[in-house]
Amino acid sequence: MTPDEAGLGTDDARPLETDPTRFRRRFDQTSMPQSFCDLDGVLTEVNDAYCRLVDRPGSELVGMPVRSLNHRSDSGDADAHLAALLRGEIDSLQTERILCGPAGRPVPVLVDAALLRDEDGRPLGAAAFVQDLSSLRGLERRRQQQEDFFLALAQRASDLAIVTDAEGRLLYASPALTGMLGYATEDVIYSPGADFVHEDDVPETLAMFARVVAHGGAETITLRVRDAAGVWHWMEETASNLLDTAVGGIVCNLRDITDRVRAEAALRASESRYRAIADNAEEGLWVTAPDGRSVYVNSRMVEILGLTEGQVLGRSLIDVLHSGQRRVTRTRTGTGGPGTSERYEVTYDHPDGRERILSVSESPLDDADGAIDGSLAMVSDITDARRLEDELRRAALHDTLTGLPNRALLLDRLQHALTLQTRGTAVMFVDLDRFKIINDARGHAAGDELLIGVAARLRSSARAADTVARFGGDEFLVVCEDVDEHDARAVALDLLQSLDQPFQVAGGEAMLSASIGVALSSSESADALLSHADTAMYAAKVAGRSRIRVFDAALAAQAEERFELGSDLRRALLANELELHYQPVIDLATGQVLGAEALARWTHRLHGPVPPDRFVAVAEDVGLAARLDRWALRLAAHDTTALRRAAAMPADAYVAVNVSARTLSDPGLEDWITWNVEAAGLTPADVLIEVTESAIMTDATYAVALLTRLRQRGFGVAVDDFGTGHSSLAYLRDLPLTVLKIDRSFVAELTDDASARAIAASIIELARAVGVTVVAEGVEKAADAELLRGLGCDAAQGWLWSPAVHPAEAHRSGALSRTYDVSA
Ligand code: C2E
Ligand code: CA
Ligand code: CA
Repeated sequence: MTPDEAGLGTDDARPLETDPTRFRRRFDQTSMPQSFCDLDGVLTEVNDAYCRLVDRPGSELVGMPVRSLNHRSDSGDADAHLAALLRGEIDSLQTERILCGPAGRPVPVLVDAALLRDEDGRPLGAAAFVQDLSSLRGLERRRQQQEDFFLALAQRASDLAIVTDAEGRLLYASPALTGMLGYATEDVIYSPGADFVHEDDVPETLAMFARVVAHGGAETITLRVRDAAGVWHWMEETASNLLDTAVGGIVCNLRDITDRVRAEAALRASESRYRAIADNAEEGLWVTAPDGRSVYVNSRMVEILGLTEGQVLGRSLIDVLHSGQRRVTRTRTGTGGPGTSERYEVTYDHPDGRERILSVSESPLDDADGAIDGSLAMVSDITDARRLEDELRRAALHDTLTGLPNRALLLDRLQHALTLQTRGTAVMFVDLDRFKIINDARGHAAGDELLIGVAARLRSSARAADTVARFGGDEFLVVCEDVDEHDARAVALDLLQSLDQPFQVAGGEAMLSASIGVALSSSESADALLSHADTAMYAAKVAGRSRIRVFDAALAAQAEERFELGSDLRRALLANELELHYQPVIDLATGQVLGAEALARWTHRLHGPVPPDRFVAVAEDVGLAARLDRWALRLAAHDTTALRRAAAMPADAYVAVNVSARTLSDPGLEDWITWNVEAAGLTPADVLIEVTESAIMTDATYAVALLTRLRQRGFGVAVDDFGTGHSSLAYLRDLPLTVLKIDRSFVAELTDDASARAIAASIIELARAVGVTVVAEGVEKAADAELLRGLGCDAAQGWLWSPAVHPAEAHRSGALSRTYDVSA
């Protein structure tokens, strides 16, 4: 092998030996170290590059055995190979040896050696080309270093790094594999990466992988990876195409994000819960950003507004709600200022053309740091509620039958009128005169019709500014503002005349008149004015129907007297100045005393005897009725026991006690009576409770219930003054009556008036038909008694036999125990 054949550069093809000079020059100048040695392995020639490599001059090197140039770290393998070559056993060799370089440093070299032969083919020596490997070795060392470094990093890294080939088979996995997923490297190596991916994530993973393989670069996806225990981990994987680099693979970095995914899922779940709540909320929810733009509205909100989400988002709440004609109908109730909640109502022009009332409750939203981050408004459509409220308010202030203002509204208007500085305010009490009779005769429907008609006429005859109200029953009230007495009289007259024409009711005509009491303000309270008008109205009635009476000094004196009488009565009751007298009730068949009616008597210290009708009315006026009745009940029970014991009254005779309407509404009444009656040594059957027809009609349902309960306890129950009230006979059926008392007015007319006789006859017949005892009141003449007996009346009381007497007199005269003569 020639130097040329050994790869030395050549410009011409001539053999080396043909031009020794030229060969020499090339041999010396080449940068590749070269040497020749003889068959003993002793250097015969070296070029300059070789000298530089081993840092010795050529003169010193020639004659040195090759092996003497070895570094002490050399294994000696190369020497053995060279010896074999020189023995002719091989023709060439490639071997590494470590030479001793400058400063004794080891220089690794690659030696290509060839055996040189003479013309006869006998070995002559060897030529060697030496390649300095130290720079290559340096690179190799650096690579090793980097690998170690990378390994160290990989070992310490929490992220998992894997390298796959283009087909996705795992070529390498960093040690994190074991810590993170529990696999040993050998378990997974050469497995397809997709084997470890959740089946739902495989398509996306493979698609991403294919893209990275095809187009290079890197992509990141989220996928689920199964660990050795079969548990799924959420991973974020970044795959980078490093196929064309020294790595020669796809490097995938995986990070376990299970916790993050779970947290995000929890957040999403709670968000969707809130959204579900928001979407199903009854109220509209409206979130605005700090700059006022709407950023969220729930479905209820857009429904309320009648707009689309797109029409609302981006605009401000004020813009959508309050623009144009829309007005805030209620003042804000918040404390004001930024960051505080406020509640208000707005009238909203709904796109459907109908106005809505929206209640808006706005409160600031805080961000995590407590700074204001927009606001949340809760909006509800309160149109219907408000309408209902208005209706209720109207209903609360108006009479349902006539639609006129009721007592409450009238009082309010009156109070308001009195605060105004006008000429004066007039209150007019209008009471229909014959209404009860018509109502009774033609039925309630006709009565209602009549009241509606009256309301309309009063309303139209009053001035526009006047308030016409219905006070209940057949009472109306008119309030006139800014009037003097002359004006007020004129209005009252108009009211009265408006009723002159007959009314059309229930197919027929009805005539009505009214009594009007007028009171004019000077400095009175509303209550005083009303009571003055009431007093005036009674005075008008007493004076004869269809009249106007203006409250004046005379009436004031009367009212004053009434008031004084009330306070005197209160004192008299406390001082026990009242007495009970007893009038016998006589059996018309036998003349025996069936019972005695207790009647209160009051002799005023200054004015002398006060008629019971009068002081009973005053007692009712001033709220003493219940006290009076309780007093009478208790005393009557005691007197009766005493009278019976003394045989001043038959042992089986009952005692009748009058109870007024006010007392009936006293909730503790039944227990109280029962207890007192028994305490006095009587039984309920010994007591007859007398209630007037009108008292029952004040609150018929309640009265019927109470009387029923009293009856159930064994008390006798009587309807007093029967025939004077305005009720029909129908309610008799509902009442658990034991006694019916025919009013004195019928009895008085019995002999002269055939129709009174007919009425009395039918009442008696009816009472007997339902098994109720009939007692006639106020029998003064023997003829009346005779007549009554003839009609089948059971019993009677009257001056014909005895007036009411004091118990002391009953003891003395036997007025309650003797047998009366009823034969004549
Ligand atoms: P009343 O319950 O209808 O009582 C019968 C009235 O007729 C009594 O009048 C009695 O004195 C009177 N009287 C009896 N016989 C005759 C007669 O032959 N001719 C005439 N003209 N009258 C006769 P008095 O005592 O003046 O009582 C009037 C009303 O006062 C009673 O009417 C009753 O409603 C009420 N009253 C009396 N005492 C009480 C009481 O203690 N409590 C209650 N709530 N009311 C009472
Ligand atoms: Ca009575
Ligand atoms: Ca009576």
